[in-house]
Amino acid sequence: MIPVRAYLRLFTGYLRPYRAQAWLLALLLLVTIGLQLINPQLIAQFIDRALEGASVSSLVPIAVAFMVIAVCHQLIAVWATYLAEKIGWSATNQLRLDLTEHVLSLDMSFHKGTSPGELIERIDGDVTALSNFFSSMMIKVLGNAALLTGIIALLWVESWIVGLSITVFTVAAMLGMFRLHGVTVPWHKAIRATSAEMYGFIGEQIDGTEDIEANGATGYMIRRFDAIQRRWLPQVVRGWTGWALMWITSMTLYFFSLVIVYVLGSWLLGVGTLTVGSVYLVFQYVQMAHRPIEQIREELIDLQKAGASIARVEELFARETKLVQRADATLPEGPLGVDFHDVTFRYDDEAGDEIVLDDVSFTIAPGRVVGLLGRTGSGKSTVARLVTRLHEPQHGEVRVGEEATWDVNPADLRHRVAMVTQDVQLFRATVRDNLTFFDPTISDAEVLDALDRLELREWIESLPDGLDTHLDSGSGGLSAGQAQLLAFTRVFLRNPGVIVLDEASSRLDPATETLLERAVDHLLEDRTAIIIAHRLATVARADDIVILEDGSVLEAGARQQLADDPDSVFARLLATGLEEALA
Ligand code: ATP
Ligand code: MG
Repeated sequence: MIPVRAYLRLFTGYLRPYRAQAWLLALLLLVTIGLQLINPQLIAQFIDRALEGASVSSLVPIAVAFMVIAVCHQLIAVWATYLAEKIGWSATNQLRLDLTEHVLSLDMSFHKGTSPGELIERIDGDVTALSNFFSSMMIKVLGNAALLTGIIALLWVESWIVGLSITVFTVAAMLGMFRLHGVTVPWHKAIRATSAEMYGFIGEQIDGTEDIEANGATGYMIRRFDAIQRRWLPQVVRGWTGWALMWITSMTLYFFSLVIVYVLGSWLLGVGTLTVGSVYLVFQYVQMAHRPIEQIREELIDLQKAGASIARVEELFARETKLVQRADATLPEGPLGVDFHDVTFRYDDEAGDEIVLDDVSFTIAPGRVVGLLGRTGSGKSTVARLVTRLHEPQHGEVRVGEEATWDVNPADLRHRVAMVTQDVQLFRATVRDNLTFFDPTISDAEVLDALDRLELREWIESLPDGLDTHLDSGSGGLSAGQAQLLAFTRVFLRNPGVIVLDEASSRLDPATETLLERAVDHLLEDRTAIIIAHRLATVARADDIVILEDGSVLEAGARQQLADDPDSVFARLLATGLEEALA
């Protein structure tokens, strides 16, 4: 079923900026149709006059007119094709942009649940399938319908017997073709679904090449690859068979239509109803009718495919972010407070999913540094994600700033809250671009100043090309500690009010460790910080300590007080050796 309303909404919405061009395109297509109908008339006249023995001088103008019209037709067709492509790409690019923006505004649960390959397929694949829809589909369907009507009308004018026969034949043929098409649709759908799965799979594998190789899972992965291919092949074969079936049927029908015209034409010529020119004309028109019939059929198939894409596009647009859009308060400069208020959170909304944070409350005063401790899986990284509002808690509130500024939007919040995670994502670009996040308004002087203040300048300058050193994507060919050094500078340049630091748990070499210690010292100056610490040196920097266990706060307080209290969990942790206990 074709969802007309969704079609129209997208169509009119995205075509509005190109209204003028679309009308011009419609006009051009109508003109080409008109020109196509005129030319056979000229030839018919030419034949009849030539048979009547008219002089050559009276035939020449007809021949010239024929050629002029033929050339004009081709030129206009080229122009129309150019316009159609241009409109199609402009409209779909806007749609790609809107989809990308929408997807970026979604919360992390969407992104975790969607593989990159699938996203590419949905934002680019589906939209590309729509480009014909935006440019010329409607016009072609209508235009070809007009052309077909014109041809049939002219056939009726020539001879009602031919007109009637061809009308009945055309209607029957088109109904038959649609019937057949209905049978092949599911075959094509299956191919598309498998292809999306295939690309999702490949994307994931390329992402995980290192782990797959290292764990000897190559054989398993190739078998999975093979399994998908095995499913894919028969589907593709069936799809092409469907296509061939359609083609053969269409050609056979075309052949029969010509037979009808030959039989009728020779009979009508024999009884003297039609002249030789008219028989030619009828023959030519029936031959011409084949194309619009084919095109209408193809466009309707495309329209149906577009229907599937539109449904998927609409579905993506309908995905609402779970992030609450609040009023637009702006956060003040300087350190910001953080307040967890009765926060309960699970990653999946489905009831029954494991609760990761259970009624967690704690407050961090502006400018304080909090060390967040807990065993692996206790929810530390989750706390970090909630502060940066990558997720929204199911119950309770995570507030940043002070009461007047609690209602900020996620996008604004992320300008003032920065996170350095355990695995820093670097981009295939220069160190400079990795530090500024491709922001050209940040000058080299600013970058160098930041590096100076973090005491990292010497280190950066020791890289092969300094700021111009090219990094690879992923970890960039740097160690985890070094990548964190870059991330610190990145964050420092943004001058956030809250920093969340998920410390790399891997052991660092002493040189990097010294650099890291000094950089963290400078980074935390005059800022609120939550540090998820794995090392004693980092914990020692904290003013306060929060210890998580099984999603609850086990202990919280000023670090010195807890350390001095022999009954505290923290004191016991220190005694048994923090690094071993938390590793
Ligand atoms: P570590 O010290 O190993 O980094 P952590 O304290 O940071 O551990 P979290 O990453 O916050 O632990 O994970 C807490 C719980 O939430 C774990 O049980 C984990 O399985 C679950 N979890 C983490 N991330 C997700 C996710 N994206 N989707 C579903 N569950 C998750
Ligand atoms: Mg973690």
